[in-house]
Amino acid sequence: MAVLSSGFFIWAAYVSKNENEAFAFRKFLNLGILIFSISFLFILTHNALLISIIVIIFGVAGLVGIFFLLPLEKKGGFVPQRPTGQIDERKTMFSRRELLPGTTEYENFYTSKPQFKKTDDNFRAFPGLLNSRSSQFNAFNFASADASFETIEALYDKVDGSLNPEKVEVDAVQISKYIKAWARKLGALDCGITHLKDYHLYSYGGRRERRDKKYSREHEFAIAFTVEMDKQMVDTAPKAGIVMESGQQYLESGKISIQLAAFIRNLGYQARAHIDGNYEVVCPLVARDAGLGEIGRMGLLMTPKHGPRVRIGVVTANIPLSIDQPGDNFPVIDFCTICKKCADSCPSNAISFEDMEEIDGVLRWQINQEACFTLWCKLGTDCGRCMSVCPYSHENNALHSIVRTGINNNFVFRRIALKMDDVFYGRKPLSKEIPEQLNI
Ligand code: SF4
Ligand code: SF4
Repeated sequence: MAVLSSGFFIWAAYVSKNENEAFAFRKFLNLGILIFSISFLFILTHNALLISIIVIIFGVAGLVGIFFLLPLEKKGGFVPQRPTGQIDERKTMFSRRELLPGTTEYENFYTSKPQFKKTDDNFRAFPGLLNSRSSQFNAFNFASADASFETIEALYDKVDGSLNPEKVEVDAVQISKYIKAWARKLGALDCGITHLKDYHLYSYGGRRERRDKKYSREHEFAIAFTVEMDKQMVDTAPKAGIVMESGQQYLESGKISIQLAAFIRNLGYQARAHIDGNYEVVCPLVARDAGLGEIGRMGLLMTPKHGPRVRIGVVTANIPLSIDQPGDNFPVIDFCTICKKCADSCPSNAISFEDMEEIDGVLRWQINQEACFTLWCKLGTDCGRCMSVCPYSHENNALHSIVRTGINNNFVFRRIALKMDDVFYGRKPLSKEIPEQLNI
């Protein structure tokens, strides 16, 4: 048992080395060597009593470990609540950022919503995203991120298009299976389908020519999928690596959305892709209802295998589809309730330390979007420290899958896993360097 335990920790050290987790590597390795050395010393003494003690200790520890992976849930659970109202995109920070002083839109907005004027004057005083005067400026990295966002913009007029007049008859189950398989082939991690609800749609558009456009539900279904953000790049947050990765994965998810929507229109059914800067829907709400995860403390979608380390793509459509049911997401909510690691690490104190509270009739967490965005304008990047430190963001490999199984199954294990994460990875892990070949 002792050999197994030390073997486990040395394997965990090996995995951590490959993950570029130097802090965890040292801790796992030291623990593995320590357990092995102590056991070896006991065996060298040839003392039957000492050997029996160590066998019993490790035997009990092993059984307890297995017990914590077994299903054991708190009573009560979590009853998911769905919003009744719609979000107005004009109130989001990206929409407010587009308002230029002196324009009619600017005057109209702050006349009707004066409560935003002070905070918005504040973020406008800082250089802004991808600005050369911001604190994380790196000419090559910022230009790379900008190139991704420019490519996304070039795709704006591809989100919708003409229909094939010859409609192909489809079976809802078959076509849903095909769409999911093709989305994965195109690079999606996971894909789900839900009925499009009013609360998935923004009430009014807030970006570019869609400002003040009132949205109404034109499609019956929404297809949501996720793409992975590279852990190495995310771990550079808040340095420029995070905004490079955000831009790249917005582009990847945008490309897949556009391809899926074009595919559906080629079959003769209406479909619209929703891509970065050109959304009519609130992606995390759609993805949650399509069974891809739950919305956690930091306000992002928490997926079962990659946590918040994803970007979401959405296609709304009128093709007959078979819908998915949201899973039991209580483990995520329970873990977020006790964890608070993102709140501890947030440089702008934008993330709440409190339990979920009722906001607009729904029990949830809400971040302070003004504080978060103002920091982005100082950094020049989209920060991402919360995503980087989240215990759910670890690589999706065998080591972390074992931990995720326990977290999902057992409420006692959740509490132990959180402590272990703090010990092995640090309560406030340091930001890593941008990969050498990109750090010029
Ligand atoms: S860091 Fe912890 S509290 Fe924050 S989203 Fe991740 S699991 Fe939830
Ligand atoms: S992105 Fe940064 S500032 Fe915004 S909530 Fe996350 S950690 Fe806080």
